Amino acid sequence: MPGLKRAKSIMIRNARFLVCNERRIIEYGDVYIEDGKIVDLGGSGELKKKQYKPEVVIDAARMAVIPGLVDTHAHVGQTYVRGLIEDLPAKGIIDTLAKLIWFGYEYHTAETVRITETVGLLEMIKNGTTTHLDCHIFPESMAKAARDSGLRTVLCPQVLDSRKLPDADSPEEYLKMTERTIRRWHRVENGRINVRVHPHATYSCEIDYFKKCLEIADKYGVGIGIHMAEALDEVEVIKKKFGRRPVEFMYDIGLLGPKTIGFHCIWLSNEEIKLFKLTDTKVAHNPMSNMKYAFGIARVPEMVKEGITVGLGTDGPQVVPLDMFEVMKFTGCVHKVNHLDPSLLPARDIFRMATRDGAKALGLEKEVGSLEKGKKADVVLLDLADPRFFPLTKDNILSHIVYFAHAGHVRTVIVDGKILMRDRKIEVLNEKKIMEKARPIGEKFAQELMGRR
Ligand SMILES: [Zn+2]
Repeated sequence: MPGLKRAKSIMIRNARFLVCNERRIIEYGDVYIEDGKIVDLGGSGELKKKQYKPEVVIDAARMAVIPGLVDTHAHVGQTYVRGLIEDLPAKGIIDTLAKLIWFGYEYHTAETVRITETVGLLEMIKNGTTTHLDCHIFPESMAKAARDSGLRTVLCPQVLDSRKLPDADSPEEYLKMTERTIRRWHRVENGRINVRVHPHATYSCEIDYFKKCLEIADKYGVGIGIHMAEALDEVEVIKKKFGRRPVEFMYDIGLLGPKTIGFHCIWLSNEEIKLFKLTDTKVAHNPMSNMKYAFGIARVPEMVKEGITVGLGTDGPQVVPLDMFEVMKFTGCVHKVNHLDPSLLPARDIFRMATRDGAKALGLEKEVGSLEKGKKADVVLLDLADPRFFPLTKDNILSHIVYFAHAGHVRTVIVDGKILMRDRKIEVLNEKKIMEKARPIGEKFAQELMGRR
């Protein structure tokens, strides 16, 4: 029966590779998990001697055991638009939203969000993503879907004052809803669910509204997430309105800081990169979505070189899968070719961005992002018995994970010590029932969308 029951203790035995982080890789290792935490890990021989008595034993003989992947920016509930707004003309983010995206929001109710979110969360589990940040509307539905999925979530209820969306009657009501969501959901479920304040973007809120968002974040000590410098039309609009570039404008009003994560951050001047560094603002890099929407190429190698924390993310499932293996590959490929330099962003850096740096970008680095004693047990098992992983050595395992593995290699997923998927069978949700419920929602939306064209 699906549910969130957790075994008291789990032993993952005989992993071919235990990838604790991008630097520490153990050949033939074990991980011992108790009460949701990693209690011990090391070479198989070492742990055998300690004679733990686990309730569940998972054989990982042909597997790589890695930290769960961290998706620092997604709109999980927008699964129902997938493939329906492809290949259409739009120029920039404001234009894309107006022509292709906002209509989809109007279609939503609390019920449809809960179901379409759950579809996206199922996809994430199957793709080995254990932590994600989710921007969307109807936060109560987002939260319940996240709770039931067992995944680690940073909820970002979207607020803005330039547009009416179906989950609230006024911009003030949006802010009240964010406060309610923080009070009800922040750090619940053993800390698995987190909440941030999410003013939608630099161009969709007035200054007073941004200030109110800041006040809420300060009042509850939570972080902020916001779309920044995503496309050239945004840069033009902000320059015209405020005489500043988007990140400069954010700095002026006090929105940058160590607990702020900027989504996309593509069009940055040298000065704006310095502002990120100065304020320790975090960045979510979404290469697949940036390319598919034709928004631009973010200056990621420069930001990483400056020591700015850059996590990786998928963005909207309308145009990209919620799949961090794809994101890792695109990250390497786009920046190497953009600079005509194959040595840029080695696999080790990309793996770190998809795990430890992602966790840090979300303020969760003490809890997750690597396999370490005392950390929460967010663990993914990858099946290495595929000819594409030949030859397999300690020296190329990270390259295999970044460039050769795909989501289908994910066998087992554990979050907070609970097994969400085992041998590719979802344990926590009833996948078949959820897809049956979701199907008519997707079909109805597609019909309405086609009717408008
Ligand atoms: Zn986004």
